[in-house]
Amino acid sequence: MKYDVVIAGAGPAGSTLARRLAGAGLEVLVLEKEFMPREKPCGGGITYKAARLLDFPWQDVIEDTVHTAVFSYQGKSEVTVRLKTPLAYMVTRSSFDRMLADRARQAGACLVEGAPVKDIAVENGLVTVAAAGETYHGRLFVGADGVNGRSAMLLGLHHPGETGPTLEAEVACPPEVLEQKRGTIRLDCGAVPWGYGWVFPKRDRLSTGVGAFTRKVKELKKLLGGFLAREGLGSARILSLRGYPIPSGGRKKRIHSRSALLIGDAAGLVDPFSGEGIYYAIKSAHLAAEAILDSRAQPEGAPGLYQSLVDRHVTAELMEARRLARVFYTFPRVAFGLVEKNPDIAGQLCQIVCGEGNYSGLKEAAAEVIRAILSRKRTAGSLPHH
Ligand SMILES: Cc1cc2nc3c(=O)[nH]c(=O)nc-3n(C[C@H](O)[C@H](O)[C@H](O)COP(=O)(O)OP(=O)(O)OC[C@H]3O[C@@H](n4cnc5c(N)ncnc54)[C@H](O)[C@@H]3O)c2cc1C
Repeated sequence: MKYDVVIAGAGPAGSTLARRLAGAGLEVLVLEKEFMPREKPCGGGITYKAARLLDFPWQDVIEDTVHTAVFSYQGKSEVTVRLKTPLAYMVTRSSFDRMLADRARQAGACLVEGAPVKDIAVENGLVTVAAAGETYHGRLFVGADGVNGRSAMLLGLHHPGETGPTLEAEVACPPEVLEQKRGTIRLDCGAVPWGYGWVFPKRDRLSTGVGAFTRKVKELKKLLGGFLAREGLGSARILSLRGYPIPSGGRKKRIHSRSALLIGDAAGLVDPFSGEGIYYAIKSAHLAAEAILDSRAQPEGAPGLYQSLVDRHVTAELMEARRLARVFYTFPRVAFGLVEKNPDIAGQLCQIVCGEGNYSGLKEAAAEVIRAILSRKRTAGSLPHH
């Protein structure tokens, strides 16, 4: 059988695209390496911005709703932001991803599990994909197989060195402590160089971890230990400990080739300042669906159209995030000091997470604060001495 689209990977990106395309009447095949439900090391924070892209009921998998963010620097100097609208919803990825895959199936997509894509060949507008000893054919191929997937490599679109390391620990927590932590996420930007530590509440445990946006950071286990101790979780029982790379997005690059394109983490679409990736996985799936459906008569036009949509609607914003990250993570103590004195900046960051602001606005607000400080200093410096 020849499919309209063959997708590698049933994460948020692949399942969202499969649901959209199958719902529009296309023949869609998803090849997933693992068996669902499968684990994915992740904080499981679905930001308000990402939640707004989910146009169907999904409340069953929400474990907590977050309205408060506490930012700190090495366990000190806290800045708290409370929002009326939810900042994020907490999920366990195995349940969230299974729900998305079920939705894709219900829309008519065919999902083959335990089928890691091993090879991709494109010839005369026909894509041939080898997985689990079988060969599948399609008019288009989409790599949605995450940061460790093979699609980018097989398509000649892999860019080495564009990831950072993370170490995620799920920790047990007594119910009374968990109760205090409900509704709040904690982010410490002094926990690791070029990154941060997080504590996210789940139904019966906490997701904690440290992650950096550059490969140069080593000894994450030691850094995680220090972070957990400062968070009062030094003696908490660790239920699981997993290292995993995270893409560091915000670079303009080619994410398509003839009859093929990449979405989500496979395309490196993760915010290099916040580490948010689920929104971009779903958003890029929507843009891919738009490009594929608009090019139905001429499928070979879809990859190029998709690239231009991503450049315009995603990469431009991620490049702004990258510029901000470069300044913030190079001088985290000074940058956090600025946030501490001007908590509105933290509020603006939360607005971005909610989808109600952007990095250009935040950069402008921070520049305004710096200009005001410099002008105060200049005025103070020019005061006559008595
Ligand atoms: C520690 C950590 C914490 C994070 N926390 C957050 C957070 O709180 N909020 C947020 O928004 N983002 C977070 N992220 C980022 C987020 O996890 C990713 O951006 C998101 O999972 C990307 O979705 P995806 O569908 O592109 O890829 P994935 O979720 O990685 O899915 C890829 C799928 O492809 C499959 N696959 C792999 N290889 C093959 C193959 N060869 N053939 C077929 N299938 C294959 C995999 O099994 C998997 O099911 C975090 C990342 C890390 C590492």
